[in-house]
Amino acid sequence: MIRYDRLKDSINWPATWSLTSFSLYADPTNTNFREDKVQSFRRKLMFDELPTMDNLCRRKPDIYKSEWKCFHCDLVHETSAHLWFCAPSDPLKWSRKDALKMIIDLARDSLKKHLIKIDRNRSRIPTLDWLPEFVALPCWSLTPSDTSFYGFDLLKGFVPWNLFDLVNSVTRNHTLSISLINKILFKLQDRAFRYIWLLRCHDMVEWESLRQITAVMKRSKSHSNPTSSTQSRTKDQIVIHDRCDGWISNSINRGLQWYNYISDFLVGLTVQMDKFAPLFFG
Ligand SMILES: [Zn+2]
Repeated sequence: MIRYDRLKDSINWPATWSLTSFSLYADPTNTNFREDKVQSFRRKLMFDELPTMDNLCRRKPDIYKSEWKCFHCDLVHETSAHLWFCAPSDPLKWSRKDALKMIIDLARDSLKKHLIKIDRNRSRIPTLDWLPEFVALPCWSLTPSDTSFYGFDLLKGFVPWNLFDLVNSVTRNHTLSISLINKILFKLQDRAFRYIWLLRCHDMVEWESLRQITAVMKRSKSHSNPTSSTQSRTKDQIVIHDRCDGWISNSINRGLQWYNYISDFLVGLTVQMDKFAPLFFG
């Protein structure tokens, strides 16, 4: 989350928050199995809490060895970022990076289609002068950057201001802009869940079975590092690592009532109250 402290000014937090609580599978008052699975995935994705090999080494060091590299490419450690960018040199193995690129391109093209339609409905001869800037937005890029927003941040559910501002310049309607972004990015995350994460988990189970790592072993409490285990947590709860992500995890764990944690939000992000006041209270 240190990364997002650094990028905080380029992220539209209200839009990000709206996306976090949005779902195409259930309304906020109901839930179902599919909804539970996807929402759990999305929350863990946002907080780098997915059971990657990196996280498993920390939670269960008695089972997962720190010297083990990514089981898919055997080149580097499987971190929360590498998971999505893994591209094995073995041509018989699928490239998750290629799959992610297709999923992000699909989101970009789908949003572009919606915006062109809106633009055409407004003007008989639309200029589409926003299009080059839209296509060039860094959120569609998979080139990693420590200092600026890119596709991995979008996948995690963070909405950049430049994406929101561009969409809003076409729709000229704040509610419609939020709605469009929510639908497009929810589908992006859902596709990443179905077409990359689930396949990766399937491959991981096969790899674990070759090493005699059983489900019983995985469920057992780790003796080496009990404080980092997820065993003591309730389902889907997110551990608060530091003050910066505390406001996010508090509100997610307690029913997405983010406005109840506005003080944490403001303290954690060191943002100016007057900057967001119209959005919160207007
Ligand atoms: Zn890999």
